[in-house]
This record gives sequence, structure tokens and C-alpha cells, in this order.
Amino acid sequence: MSQMDIALITGASRGIGAAIAVRLAEEGYDIWLNYRSRHDAAEQVAGRIRDLGRECTLLPFDVSDESAVKEALDAPLKEQTPYILVNNSGINRDGLLFWMPPENWKDVLNVSLDGFFYVTSRVAGLMMQKKRGRIVNIVSTSGQTGMPGQVNYSAAKAGLIGATKALAKEVARSRVLVNAVSPGFIETDMTKDLPKAEILKMVPLRRFGTCEEVAAAVAFLCSDEASYITGQVLNVNGGVHM
Ligand code: NAP
Repeated sequence: MSQMDIALITGASRGIGAAIAVRLAEEGYDIWLNYRSRHDAAEQVAGRIRDLGRECTLLPFDVSDESAVKEALDAPLKEQTPYILVNNSGINRDGLLFWMPPENWKDVLNVSLDGFFYVTSRVAGLMMQKKRGRIVNIVSTSGQTGMPGQVNYSAAKAGLIGATKALAKEVARSRVLVNAVSPGFIETDMTKDLPKAEILKMVPLRRFGTCEEVAAAVAFLCSDEASYITGQVLNVNGGVHM
């Protein structure tokens, strides 16, 4: 890493994204912190990053809105190219397929896949020109095993795993590495209403994971130690899927 390298993390006002932003700041990166609407939460994360002596630029935009992505990112990308991009923003709209309104299908795929495309297509080419960069996509066990009630979410995350591998092959010659981190059940707003006791019976480590445990995997994939790892899915799931 050279001095003042930047890490762009989407969906970083809360949960896993916030932990990744703080962890990469601890590793010495300045942070471009994207989120959708929760300004107060984002300001708090920015405060933690600035307390670490790193810069934090807040970039509120909806990753699934192409014109919003363009408006927010094109100007800063003219000045600087992030070394790290973490595509973390994601939503779930659970329900059985039979009852699923079309907007719940579209919204989940749009945030996960369109969001990945709009942000990554702007950043990856610049990384290739610089012949350096790391892209990490946050997927899910649900996209590997399939989860009933999550046909939309499983499809979105399985799609993102495919995109990770294809892009890894496209950009490898430019020394840009692309990987995915696949969390199982992690303590965040997304999982707070799940039946925890029932779920823990399925988890060999008998607990939910922490956001910091996911962030550690991301930090590893962005480190010099991971320089020969690309196109991989790193599971952080307490053994729930092997
Ligand atoms: P979370 O607590 O619900 O936080 C979601 C974050 O994404 C927030 O920062 C939110 O911003 C942002 N966001 C949502 N929609 C967005 C959009 N359209 N544009 C930009 N930002 C958007 O979620 P989490 O549990 O930390 O999950 C983070 C990632 O890990 C997701 O991709 C999720 O699918 C994946 N994951 C989570 C788990 C788990 O157990 N929690 C397991 C596997 C995978 P605002 O605060 O402004 O709303």
C-alpha cells in the first residue's frame, strides 16, 4: 500500500460495511464511505475513522440509481483512484416466491447486482490503468446454498459470486484482484428479527458472527499477504456451509 491509498466501501453507515470501513482505516487507508440515507449513523462512523487519523469522505447515494452513482463518483474519480473497492451494500426483502411482489424481486437484485455494476464499472477500469487494485464483493451463504424465503436474495448473491469470478478473470492481467467474502449469520440490523435459537442449532460454532470477523476477512483479501488470491469466495460463516 502506498501512503494515502483510498478504500471505497458501499453501504458503510451501519453493520458489516461500517466495520469494514473502520478496519481498513486502522490498516491505514483513507475512506470514501457510501450509504443511502442514514446520515447520522454515517457521521458516527466517519468520526471513528477520523479519530484514527484517517480521512473520511461521505458519499451518500443509492447504488442502484445509475445517475446518482455517476453524479457522486465521477468527480472524485477524476482526482483519485481507490486502491480498494468493497461492494457491501445489500438489502433483503424476504418472502416466499409465490407471494413475492415484483418490486421485492427487483429491489433486491437492483441493489446487489445493478449496484455492483454501476460502481464497479466506474472504478475497475481506473484500477486497471494503474495496474493495482482490490475489489471485494460481500455475498452470502444464501447465494451458495439457497435459502427458502430468499429466492430474490439467493439469486442476487449467487449472481454476484458469478460476477466476482468473471471479473477476476477479466482484470487479472492488470494486477487487479477480485474476491468475495461470504458471511453466514452476522449480528446486524438485517438479522435482528430472525429466530436466533432455531438458527443456532444449524451453526456448528453455535453463535452468530460479528461484523468485525467479516471485516477481518476483507482486510486480509486487501492485504499484501493475499497477493496470489483472486476469484475466490472466502466463507465467514461459523461452519454453517462448508
Ligand atoms: P445492514 O445492517 O442492513 O446495513 C446495510 C447498509 O447498506 C447500510 O449502510 C445502508 O445504508 C446501505 N444500503 C442499503 N441499500 C443501499 C443502497 N441502495 N445504496 C447504498 N447503500 C445502501 O446490512 P448488513 O447486515 O451489514 O449487510 C451488509 C452486507 O452483508 C449486505 O450485502 C448483506 O447482504 C451481506 N450479508 C449480511 C449478512 C448478515 O447476517 N447480516 C449475512 C450475509 C451477507 P443506510 O444506513 O443509509 O440505510
